[in-house]
Order: sequence, then structure tokens, then C-alpha cells
Amino acid sequence: PRLANQIAAGEVVERPASVLKELVENCLDAGATQIDIELEDAGVKLLKIRDNGSGIAVEDLPLALARHATSKITTLDDLEGVASLGFRGEALASISSVSRLELVTSTDESGKGWRVVAEGREMQSQVSPAPHPRGTSLTMRDLFFNTPARRKFLRTERTEFTHLEEVFRRLALSRQDVAFSLKHQGKLIHQLPAIPFDTEDQRLKYRRVAQLLGKDFIEQSLPIESVATGIQLHGWVGLPVYARAQADRQYFFVNGRVVKDKLVAHAIRQAYQDVLYGGRHAVFVLYLEVDPKIVDVNVHPTKHEVRFRDGRWVHDFIFSSLHRRLSGALIGSEKPNLEP
Ligand code: ADP
Ligand code: MG
Repeated sequence: PRLANQIAAGEVVERPASVLKELVENCLDAGATQIDIELEDAGVKLLKIRDNGSGIAVEDLPLALARHATSKITTLDDLEGVASLGFRGEALASISSVSRLELVTSTDESGKGWRVVAEGREMQSQVSPAPHPRGTSLTMRDLFFNTPARRKFLRTERTEFTHLEEVFRRLALSRQDVAFSLKHQGKLIHQLPAIPFDTEDQRLKYRRVAQLLGKDFIEQSLPIESVATGIQLHGWVGLPVYARAQADRQYFFVNGRVVKDKLVAHAIRQAYQDVLYGGRHAVFVLYLEVDPKIVDVNVHPTKHEVRFRDGRWVHDFIFSSLHRRLSGALIGSEKPNLEP
């Protein structure tokens, strides 16, 4: 199983950023409202995540690190409308096969919890008592210590940190109702308080996005809000003047899940092209909400792709929402700054 896990790890664990993604998704699945991340040497030496979610019951602890063990799917019906971010039970087994992992967790407020460690294999030691508030702390050290070939593929600390920060940005944008913090080499890089999704406070509404993308993104973008039966889109679309400088800032979320999807990208590009003659530099933060039953996220292990039951309908909704908003801004009073 160790070899199988290491092979699987190649798919799930490419670099520290992919570990971060899996671990934060687990925290979100556990219902955490606060997630604190600490990194050393861009996550290679140390990647620690603490959450205040459900914790793991002591009897489930050995299973959590086992391959294909997931607590999130029990019936075929669950798979249909899967709402959790992880459901394959691969991440922890894969990560523990290529690093030294320590997990301390508690399911209640007694202050008592349990600890388990794994080092380059499924599990090294027995579960032992350890103090912990409700939630889970997961510490990963020495990523790829036992797979030197893979370690060689890691880039400079700076590049790996850029990837980590991008994963952090996406996940933090996906859930502004969850508080996040990120430390690197003991230095606080981001501290993001939780903001209710339905806040009416205009300043709060923009806060998370401004903290992560900068105030100029807010100043140079149009807020969008579009609703039809069973589908809803809201967020910000950047104006071309901003887009040119920030071509990589494209964030799309489907039901709170990070999505990079061809169909979605096409709809957005079309709208930009039609109205602004420049779809290449689209910049956006957009949230699509649809009935989970009409979207299939079980397409690819990294789960960035989705399959909509009626792709055409979703495409056209996104396209027309953006088209209306962008052309409305052109002919309306907002007069965006449109440089050639
Ligand atoms: P998956 O997320 O696909 O179920 P993982 O390998 O990521 O698989 O996690 C295995 C199991 O460990 C999860 O199903 C969950 O029960 C448990 N788990 C992992 N991380 C956490 C966490 N932070 N809080 C609570 N439970 C967790
Ligand atoms: Mg998971």
C-alpha cells in the first residue's frame, strides 16, 4: 500500500500548494469557521493547519489516514449531490506517504483530544491522548523526504510560495464567511476576518476581495448581480484597463467551489469580446450558485472542472448576465475608463 500511496500521491500531491488545497478543503468540509495556516520554507519544511471544525472521532482516526477512506460518502445518493469538497479519501493517505504527518484532533470542548502520527507510510504509531480544543491541527513536515526524485521537481521557495498564496487566495475568496490567516517564516502575511455572505454592509461586501486582490481591483471593476430561476451569479468583473495589468486574476466559484472550466471560460470570454473587443484579458471574481443536483463535480481528482447537466443553459446564463452588465455600463452612467 505504501507504493500505491506514493503513486497516488503523484496525482494529488504535486507540490506544497496542492497539499495546502487538500488540507484546507478538509477543514472546510469539517465546518470550520477559522483556519490558520503556518508555513516554513514555502511549506516544504513545515505546513501546519489548525481548524475549529468538527474534529475526528478517535475511532475514526486510523481510518482517516487510510486510502480510500472517506467519511463523506456513504451512499450513491451522496455522490449525486456531493456537497463536500473531498470525497475520494485519497488526500491524507497520499500526503502521509510522502511526508511526516501529525494529526491532533478533538470533537468536543473538553480540551482533550487524540494524536496520531504517520511517516512515509500509513501509520506509524498508536493513537495517543493529547490536549486540543474542538477541531483539528495537522502538521506536515519534510515534504518528499522519502521521494528525492519528486523533491527535485520543486522550484525555488519563492515560486512555491507564489503557488501557495494563489491556492490560499482562491480558497479564501471561495468562503468569505470563514476566517483565514497565513503565516510564512513566522511572519503574518494575511489575516482575514470572517464576513457573513449576506452582509448588507457595502464596505464589508468588498472587504475580502479588496484584501486579496487590492483596492484597485474594486475601483476598476463592475459589481454584478444576476438572478434567474434556479441559478444566480454575483461578483465583480474587471474593466479592461485593470485587466491588462492583471491578466491572471480569474476566479470562478460554483456553489462555493473553485472551478476552472472551459464552458465557463468560454461564456465569459464571449461576453467580453462582444462588448469590449478584448476577451483575452478578462479579470473577474464570480460566484455561481446552482442546485447541486444539476452540477457534477466528480469529473477530475483535482476537481477544478465541473459538468453541468445542461451546459448550454448555464453557458448562456453566464454569457447574457455579463453581456448585459458590461454593455449596460457602457451606455449607462457608469462610464468605465475604456482605454484603447
Ligand atoms: P476526503 O476528504 O476525500 O474524505 P481525505 O484523505 O482528505 O479524504 O480525508 C480523509 C478523512 O479524514 C475525511 O473523510 C474526514 O473524515 C477526515 N478529516 C480529514 N481532515 C479533517 C479535518 N480537518 N477535520 C475533520 N475531519 C477531517
Ligand atoms: Mg479531503
